[in-house]
Amino acid sequence: MEVIICIWLGLIGAIMGSFLGCMGYRIPNKIKTTYPSSFCSSCNKPLKWYMNIPIFSYIIQKGRCVYCKEKIGIIYFICEVLGLILFPLNYILFDFDLNFFISTILTCVLITTIVSDFKYYYISDRVLIVSGLCLLVVLYIFLSTSDFLMRLVSAVILFLVMIGLKILGNSMFNKESLGDGDIKLMAVIGLALGLLNSFIGLFFAAFIGLIFSLITIKKNKEGIIPFGPFILIGALIVIYLSNIITPYINSLLSL
Ligand SMILES: [Zn+2]
Repeated sequence: MEVIICIWLGLIGAIMGSFLGCMGYRIPNKIKTTYPSSFCSSCNKPLKWYMNIPIFSYIIQKGRCVYCKEKIGIIYFICEVLGLILFPLNYILFDFDLNFFISTILTCVLITTIVSDFKYYYISDRVLIVSGLCLLVVLYIFLSTSDFLMRLVSAVILFLVMIGLKILGNSMFNKESLGDGDIKLMAVIGLALGLLNSFIGLFFAAFIGLIFSLITIKKNKEGIIPFGPFILIGALIVIYLSNIITPYINSLLSL
């Protein structure tokens, strides 16, 4: 039974990965989410259904468009693989409890944001609103009223802290230090993780972002780092390690 659930979640994850990666391209380019149906972004020819099978189509077509032979970005393949792996992993780690739903919602936001933020430095308000609303529903079902309210307060505090950091960073570096999308995303993370875990996630995000900026320092002439995917990866790391980290932090705090 467990294996069958994992296979189903892997299939759903790969399909969602394909869809959400496509949204990460369409939303910043102001293309409707439902129309036109899938097309090649180089030659604009509509794709047949069998050119749209997650993971398989990319491998069989060797990562190129069937018509114009132009390369299809590997980032879309990565989105499908992320869905394929993370959806079942979330179930294996958490069964169908609260953390399964939170980590799966954040996985979906990560997949879209990987495309939109890395390619276009853009985090979609629509994606943040939908994911925020889904989180509110899940939290309302699983948490007590006081814990639910604490998550709302955490989201507001993180939003304000990020605005403060932006004002501070802008005046220190004399340029835009944090995108508005990152600030709104942190409010969603506050809902998902609560205050303390969000700050731990932000620490992971800053660390991974720093490594990324050092690796890409020669290529990245504009000096802009898409921080959104790192915020989400940091948050997912915290959820995955939550069973280890939270008791440790609690014991530190009670010292
Ligand atoms: Zn093409």
